[in-house]
Amino acid sequence: MTLSTRERAKTAIAELNERVTDARWRTLEALFVAERPLSHAEIEAGLAAGGAIDRVTLYRVLDWLVGRGLAHKIEGHDQAWRFSAVGNDTHGHAHFQCTQCNKMYCLTAIQPTLVLALPPRFHFEEADISLRGTCADCQPR
Ligand SMILES: [Zn+2]
Ligand SMILES: [Zn+2]
Repeated sequence: MTLSTRERAKTAIAELNERVTDARWRTLEALFVAERPLSHAEIEAGLAAGGAIDRVTLYRVLDWLVGRGLAHKIEGHDQAWRFSAVGNDTHGHAHFQCTQCNKMYCLTAIQPTLVLALPPRFHFEEADISLRGTCADCQPR
């Protein structure tokens, strides 16, 4: 049986023994269906069709999703956070941000193997590799 993204979102929250509020599962569902990490504004615009979630609630829900390990946040070159669902995005990969439209993309094919020479007793957790340029949509035709 394949769960719908809606059921996946509700289940993921319920498994943490947390309240499955509309704002929580709808925001998580939006991240599950997204093909790339989304900014607050993009998430807000995407949710508007199904009934708007006010900005303060959305900010709180996104922080909550990150805090509970259901979402990642990645800082853009414009200093705005982008969010993605943990199940979608393992973040061993690099990200690409378009300098024209500011959209962020996952470059899942780029999984850099880092040769690390860390000082003694330093412990590596994750590398955040981000590239900048122009996306396909913004190229002159
Ligand atoms: Zn672009
Ligand atoms: Zn990613």
